[in-house]
Amino acid sequence: MTQHDVFDTTIIGGGPVGLFAAFYAGMRGLKTKIIDSLPELGGQLIAVYPEKYIYDVAGFPKVLAKDYVKGAVEQGLSTGAVPCLGETAQSLEWLPEAGYYRLTTDKADHYTRTVIICAGVGSFEPKRLEAPGVREFEGRGVTYLVRSLEEFRDKDVVIVGGGDSAVDWALAVHPLARSTTLVHRSKFRAHERSVQQLHDSPVALYYPFYEVKEVRGNAWLEEVVVHQTRTGEEHVFPAQALIVAIGFAADLGPLKTWGLTIERNSIVVDPRTMATGLPGVFAAGDVVTYPGKFKLIATGVAEAITAVNHAVVHLDPSARLDAGHSTNVMEKRERTAVSAD
Ligand SMILES: Cc1cc2nc3c(=O)[nH]c(=O)nc-3n(C[C@H](O)[C@H](O)[C@H](O)COP(=O)(O)OP(=O)(O)OC[C@H]3O[C@@H](n4cnc5c(N)ncnc54)[C@H](O)[C@@H]3O)c2cc1C
Repeated sequence: MTQHDVFDTTIIGGGPVGLFAAFYAGMRGLKTKIIDSLPELGGQLIAVYPEKYIYDVAGFPKVLAKDYVKGAVEQGLSTGAVPCLGETAQSLEWLPEAGYYRLTTDKADHYTRTVIICAGVGSFEPKRLEAPGVREFEGRGVTYLVRSLEEFRDKDVVIVGGGDSAVDWALAVHPLARSTTLVHRSKFRAHERSVQQLHDSPVALYYPFYEVKEVRGNAWLEEVVVHQTRTGEEHVFPAQALIVAIGFAADLGPLKTWGLTIERNSIVVDPRTMATGLPGVFAAGDVVTYPGKFKLIATGVAEAITAVNHAVVHLDPSARLDAGHSTNVMEKRERTAVSAD
């Protein structure tokens, strides 16, 4: 067999949990790679809600998701992990003679002794709004992912959806937009407090039974036509921006064929070790399920520590399971680096 660059561990998914796993694996001395299908690290925080505040990660009274990701990326890559972006993990094959796995993505083969799956909800795609003109104006006024609130300053904005994302965007956008209109076909499913804030805000609400009928414009979006599905009553709103927030379709896709135990699109793990049923394959974060699981950043990063520590012992059964305190480990690491210079 030809010589490959073999990594101690490969982390699938560069969201907050995968990034923390990358930091911790590097801190524990593992040669680490991190693969993500998106072109940027950060997972859901960057792809879905970069401009929202997070209040329940330790150490930050409140932090914008995109700012949290800045720190998470800096920390995640600080102990030597190699990032491979824009690559989707497709298959995993144990090579018995070599004693390691071949992990194949849509771009390359990677070789690794252990795997830590931090793939969140899998590869996720916003659900598309099916109405005439919507596809045509995608990127020309119609958007599914909000990158920066500044895009909406002084614009007439129409938002579609009734969940947390749609309601939160309406609340965030209206102070800087010229006008904000929220269109939804049913009752709002968002958090009660946000719905109350929405009713107290100047956002124009068209619900229930309102849907987008058509989107019109020339070089850029100019109008959104909305109709009441029961009465047929029609409204034409001037709009330079249409935010579609009707949810995401998530799919573990190729990971489902790896022989892992899957329950409701999540990988079943032993929460004491974060081991999956495959030897040397661990998982952490939103992708896992076990009794009492919470899908939160704080719990996911704790699971990452467990997964990495058990990967360390899987690689070297004589190694300590517990890394000790980072205060000591990192100090020692830095001292060793200085004396090697
Ligand atoms: C609107 C919203 C608000 C939220 N607010 C909070 C909050 O206030 N507090 C909180 O704790 N949590 C919050 N969450 C949940 C939080 O974002 C998740 O718990 C967290 O992102 C999970 O991190 P993760 O790293 O496990 O997965 P993700 O962030 O989903 O990252 C997984 C990564 O894996 C990649 N991936 C998937 N499949 C593959 C593959 N086959 N190959 C390569 N890469 C792959 C994906 O591209 C993605 O980048 C919120 C979620 C949403 C949607």
